[in-house]
Amino acid sequence: MDGFPVKVSEAVCLGASLALSGICYYLYKKSRTTLNKLEDAPHFTIDGKLKDILKVTPGACLQYAVIEGAVQPVGEPLTSSFQKELFGVLQKFMLREHRLVWNSLSRTWTDSERVLHQRVNAVPFVLVGSNDTAVRVLCPLQASGVYMETTHEKFHQVNYGFSDIIGQYLSGEKLKGQLETEEMLKVGTTLTGVGELILETDGTLNLRPPTNGSEYFLSITDFDTLLGEQESTAGWWKGLAIASAVAGAVVLVWLGRRYYNQLRAHWEREKERREFERLRAENPRARAPVAGHEALQDEEEEHLENACVICLTQPRNCILLDCGHVCCCYSCYQALPQRRCPICRQSISRVVPLYHV
Ligand SMILES: [Zn+2]
Ligand SMILES: [Zn+2]
Repeated sequence: MDGFPVKVSEAVCLGASLALSGICYYLYKKSRTTLNKLEDAPHFTIDGKLKDILKVTPGACLQYAVIEGAVQPVGEPLTSSFQKELFGVLQKFMLREHRLVWNSLSRTWTDSERVLHQRVNAVPFVLVGSNDTAVRVLCPLQASGVYMETTHEKFHQVNYGFSDIIGQYLSGEKLKGQLETEEMLKVGTTLTGVGELILETDGTLNLRPPTNGSEYFLSITDFDTLLGEQESTAGWWKGLAIASAVAGAVVLVWLGRRYYNQLRAHWEREKERREFERLRAENPRARAPVAGHEALQDEEEEHLENACVICLTQPRNCILLDCGHVCCCYSCYQALPQRRCPICRQSISRVVPLYHV
C-alpha cells in the first residue's frame, strides 16, 4: 500500500492548533499558579505591629504578602504637565500617531498606531497606613496591574487640503492625528501591593519584586478586584487552550477517517485480487493468459488485437461485470481511478477471470 499522503493544509492546521493549544495551556498554568499564590498570600495592615511581625520572621522577610496603603512621596512629588494642581509619584507621557492604512486584502482602511515619544518619570514613594508607619515601594515600574490613572488625553486631528487627500489615496496611507496621553499614580491614592516585604537593618520597611519568581503586583483597585482580574485571565487562557485542542482533535479525526477509508479500499482490492487468483487457479484454461511476463512474450505478438486497451501490452484477462466488457488486464483494472468500465462507464460490481477455450 502507498504511503498515506497528508496535505500541506492539513499538516499546517494540525500543527498550528496543537502548538496554539500548548502555548495557551502553558499560559493558563502560569496564570493559575499566580492566582494560587495570590490566594495564599497573607494580608497585613501597615501599622506598628508590622515591624514586630517581621522582626520575628526568619530573615526579616515575608516572601509574598499583600499590603494596602496611601501613596505618599518621599521627597518632592511630580507635577502633572497639564493640570498644575495634580501631584503624583509616577508619570508616563506618551505621544502616539494614528494612521489609516489601506489593506488591499480586505479592501478596507485599517487603523495603525505608532509610539512617537514616551517618557516615564518616577520619584521614591511609600505606602502609609495608620499611625504613620510607611512601607517604601521599590521598582514600581516592574509591577503588573493597573496602578496609573489617565490624567490627560488629547487627540490632535490633522486637517487636509484637497491635494493631500488625492495623495493619500495614491499612497494608501492617511494620517489621522496624534494622541497625547499622560498617566499618573497620584499622591494620596490607595494602592494595593503584592510582593516581598522586608525589614531592612536600618528599620525601614520595603516592598520589592519577589525573589522567588512570583509576580509583583501594584494596583489602584482593591485586592478582590485584582484577584477577579487574574481569575478571568486564567479562564480566558483555559478556554483558548480547550478550543484549540478541540480544533486539533477535529483535524486528527478527519485525518483518521481519510486514513481508514484508504485502508478499507486497499483491503477490498486485496480481497478481490485473492478471489480473482483463486478463480484463475481453479480453472487451468484461464491460467495461461495471466501468467508472468516471460511466458507471454511469444504469444503477445499474436494476440496484439487481444491486448488490454489501457496498457496495450498485456492480454485482456478479466471480465468486468455487470456490463460484461472484456477490455483490460487485471493489473490495469486494479489501477483504475474509479470502479467504472473504461468502455461503457458502467460501475463495476465484480470482476472474474476470462477463460480461454
Ligand atoms: Zn493492461
Ligand atoms: Zn462496460
